[in-house]
Amino acid sequence: MNKIYYGAALYPELWDRETTEQDIKEMKKLGMNLARIGEFAWSTFEPAPNQFDFSVLTETLTSLAEHEIDVIICTPTPTPPIWLTANYPERLHRNHQGVTMVHGSRQHICTNNRYFRERAAILVEQMIAAVAQFNHVVAIQLDNEFKCHVGPCYCETCKQEWHKWLASKYGTIDTLNNAWGTAIWSQHYQSFEQVVQPVSTPFLHNSSLQQNYLAFTHAKLAEFAAEQTKVIKKISPIPVTHNSSMFFDLDNELLADQLDFISFDTYTPAGKHPGFMMNQERWRYMKNDTRRTMLLETSTSHNGHLDLYGLLHPAGYLQAESFATFASGVEAFSYWLFRGQKSGCEQPHGSIVSSWGEPTIGYQPAKQVGELIEQLRPLLESSEVMEPRVALTYSDRARSFLTVEPGEDYDYKTLVTSFYQGLLALNIERKLVPEGHNLAETELLITPYVHYISDQFLEKVIKFVAQGGIWIAGPMTGDRTEEHTWHTDSGLGALTELAGVKEMMQFPTTGSGHKGEAFGTSVELSGLSSLFTVEDDVIVHGKVTAGQAQGKAFLIERALGKGKIVMVGTVLEQNALQVVIENYAKPYMAKHVAQVAEEIVIIKRKTNQGALQYWLVNFSDQPRSLVLEKEWRELLSDKQLGVGKHVIEPFGYRVLSQK
Ligand SMILES: [Zn+2]
Repeated sequence: MNKIYYGAALYPELWDRETTEQDIKEMKKLGMNLARIGEFAWSTFEPAPNQFDFSVLTETLTSLAEHEIDVIICTPTPTPPIWLTANYPERLHRNHQGVTMVHGSRQHICTNNRYFRERAAILVEQMIAAVAQFNHVVAIQLDNEFKCHVGPCYCETCKQEWHKWLASKYGTIDTLNNAWGTAIWSQHYQSFEQVVQPVSTPFLHNSSLQQNYLAFTHAKLAEFAAEQTKVIKKISPIPVTHNSSMFFDLDNELLADQLDFISFDTYTPAGKHPGFMMNQERWRYMKNDTRRTMLLETSTSHNGHLDLYGLLHPAGYLQAESFATFASGVEAFSYWLFRGQKSGCEQPHGSIVSSWGEPTIGYQPAKQVGELIEQLRPLLESSEVMEPRVALTYSDRARSFLTVEPGEDYDYKTLVTSFYQGLLALNIERKLVPEGHNLAETELLITPYVHYISDQFLEKVIKFVAQGGIWIAGPMTGDRTEEHTWHTDSGLGALTELAGVKEMMQFPTTGSGHKGEAFGTSVELSGLSSLFTVEDDVIVHGKVTAGQAQGKAFLIERALGKGKIVMVGTVLEQNALQVVIENYAKPYMAKHVAQVAEEIVIIKRKTNQGALQYWLVNFSDQPRSLVLEKEWRELLSDKQLGVGKHVIEPFGYRVLSQK
């Protein structure tokens, strides 16, 4: 495996040299071997156009090298300097209400502005040239948290780019009009130049217009990343990454194509362990050609800014987080930030050392994590995560369909989390995968809430099923076209015939009194449900027993080749969802451990000699128990654990080994 990294972000541009030196020494004492620097320092590096000064960067790099601390250099493009923005409102980001941002925060510029792109390319070229000779620079991080504060931009530049993008996608305006069904409400366009941006309007915009504006925004962001990567690669082969997150408005799968590996930030508070674990088990699978991933930002104790004082981590939570991160195969565990900021807007954020140089409430936990890593290192180096055979589709494109059509205030992440939580609660091996994931090592694929199933995705899934895979699709999967229109041939387009559906009706069932039964469990139908009449070769597992659509099916299964397609037509309550998941995923549950408390997460690894390991972590602030059905060796205590009940202390962890 790659090096195990433990680190924090430094902002040497904010402090005198002595203070930074002191921080670097302190980092070393805590067992750290990674620093992130540079990400917001554009005005320091280029105080006036073409006047470059990277001395802060190179001096800090030299000190870090002396202390054997590797470095991720972060490009400062989210904070363009005043000379780039003052008096040039046309370069700034404009939101959907037509409000233009001003200088002073971050992400205030339009990343499609041509002059900004030029200046960003020049700066990054100079910056990489200045650091390329340091061989302890292990990665370049593009920008910082793309689109964490802003969504689509509606400036004049974006309007022109939008028209070009549409022309290249549709070729002729008639094609666009047909695809979007613009005869409705006299929306017909005569030229691409007339196509509006979906800014404020009396009622709602056409779904195709909105859907495409999001796709356009996501494509342009990926294009900006691609330009930046190209500049870097001209000078240096250092791997390029980016610190993304579950919440930002971008298509991470498109972005990942521009990166050598993808990294992430998470500030999940205690008590929400599924949210924390989704990060560990998503970013690692974002690309097909590498499993490399790093956690680049988390807090030692709490997050915060002027408007928000975050919740303090309970004692032990940070160790549980770091244990789960490394157990999941993530290479780095890194804090934002080392020294608390004395100015700006994030002063209340947790750190390791305060702005006045004393240990913070996060210092001891950070020290303990350093010690834990030393304890885990030999075990991590002699084992690796096993590729889970159960995959849950997690797609930013699918998310964008729910942004356009939230219906009953649907939030994509919350909806998919219920599936993930089901897998977690049943101790089923799992990974979150993008639509482009290569399914070679997957045996069960679950694809909920993907309104639009592309031809490429469907083709891949058909092959997967033919070879023996099980595909569980739905709810709300396959019922819209790429343009966010409804199908006109059948309810599910190409999926209709594959799933053996004869007829489908779709309507909101929440509060409608529709009830049913599936695998012996009673079900109350909710959400936008698709109810089916099916062909003879389809097994109906879930049938509506009460309500206007009595007799229709909401859970169906059809054999196809060596595998099967399962369609879920309604939003299931958590207990019913788990019954369905268990029915198909039973073979992938953790073996020889039973009655595991819900907050205990199990991660499956195997040693270089092929012996199975379970890495267990208790995410509760209370003792939690599990029952072993056979004897295991616990490697951290080097003790034998017998058959029967065992208790894990609050935020405790274990490494169980078969041999
Ligand atoms: Zn713009």
